[in-house]
Amino acid sequence: MFFLTDEHRMMQKMVREFAEKEIAPKAAEIDRTCEFPADTFRKLGQQGLLGIPYPEEEGGAGFDYLSYAIAIEEVARVCGSTALSMAAHTTLGCGPLHHFGTPEQKEKFLGRLTSGEILGAYGLTEPNSGSDSGGMQTRAVKDGDHWVLNGQKAWMTNGGVAGMYTVTALTEPEKKTQGITAFLIEAGQKGAEVGAEYDKLGCRGSNTVEFFLTDCRVHKSMVLGEVNRGFHQFMEILNMGRISIGAMALGLAQAALDSAAKYSLEREQFGQPIGHFQAIQFMLADMATEIEAARLLVYQAGRLKDLGQPFAIQASKGKLFASEVAHRACHKAIQIHGGYGYSKEFPVERYMRDAKLTEIGEGTSEVQRMIIGRDLLKTTAKGMQ
Ligand SMILES: Cc1cc2nc3c(=O)[nH]c(=O)nc-3n(C[C@H](O)[C@H](O)[C@H](O)COP(=O)(O)OP(=O)(O)OC[C@H]3O[C@@H](n4cnc5c(N)ncnc54)[C@H](O)[C@@H]3O)c2cc1C
Repeated sequence: MFFLTDEHRMMQKMVREFAEKEIAPKAAEIDRTCEFPADTFRKLGQQGLLGIPYPEEEGGAGFDYLSYAIAIEEVARVCGSTALSMAAHTTLGCGPLHHFGTPEQKEKFLGRLTSGEILGAYGLTEPNSGSDSGGMQTRAVKDGDHWVLNGQKAWMTNGGVAGMYTVTALTEPEKKTQGITAFLIEAGQKGAEVGAEYDKLGCRGSNTVEFFLTDCRVHKSMVLGEVNRGFHQFMEILNMGRISIGAMALGLAQAALDSAAKYSLEREQFGQPIGHFQAIQFMLADMATEIEAARLLVYQAGRLKDLGQPFAIQASKGKLFASEVAHRACHKAIQIHGGYGYSKEFPVERYMRDAKLTEIGEGTSEVQRMIIGRDLLKTTAKGMQ
């Protein structure tokens, strides 16, 4: 990629080596057993890979956002489960504190998160509010110096293995999204309980759980930043998260292409490698072209963020396109593998199951189209004035 710096390439090489040595050998096993790879995360922390885009004084590695996206892509090339948990921890676990935490909150929690001493989780989604995340029902009621939280969160990545959660609750329901506040909750806090783990299609080694809040008393010092800013904070975090989910899609799509290209040279039918048939070459050519286009979009969003320029729409476009490219690439990879692709003997069926998440998490493809469409019409209307 023409605009990568030496630092980006160094990150790519380092994470690729680490992922191939430490993560790849366990990928099929954690998919089969649904066991969270705690040991891998200890090693990721030791390598400084659990706080890549945060400053060193906050315990991070001090790299830019594009470096972080490249790292997620490299991890996803070998294991979607590990990439999803790493992305959720970094963007959704550390991000709220880095961007909106008070100096005291940062001092107390952020270094422990960015170093990987503890993992972070983020609870926005509820059983009855997903795409319409502002429609949440969890309530927080003020009681002296405390807030009392009651409600339920759904689909919380890393929830069962985290040391710290950020959750949203209605503090002034009549104000709708302007009356939502984010709270920091430590694992083990009375009234905060992890529920059942979801039995998922893909990313099965990534821990995803229900989370219950029952008369959970949270001190006012644990309000993230300011009261009633929670919805805006989470929307900003999601804009960043979409870059990492786009990067995860790139890694899975690339893995599918690499497997398919290799298999097409090994598998012989009609007396020659199937890669010699034009029908197979055309599929590989489409995959390669689409992946390169998707990479340009996702990396552009990361670069814009690093330059301090507006990036939200580019992040939505990158995630939308890369996730659908990953979907198509994984389906083509299975097709190229024929019957073997439909079995667990080859990893392409896992790539397909893991890639499906990227069209759903951190805003579905439909939600990305809504964001992009609204922005397009707003700009058009402005131009017509
Ligand atoms: C593995 C996994 C991990 C996750 N991790 C987290 C996490 O850590 N924290 C967290 O808070 N959440 C998490 N989520 C939740 C995720 O963000 C939601 O699943 C997602 O936002 C969609 O919400 P939903 O599942 O309720 O679907 P719904 O919102 O019910 O959508 C169902 C369908 O309707 C479509 N739809 C909805 N509204 C519209 C509309 N206005 N126009 C057109 N189509 C529409 C959707 O696109 C989708 O196709 C996770 C989800 C998964 C699967």
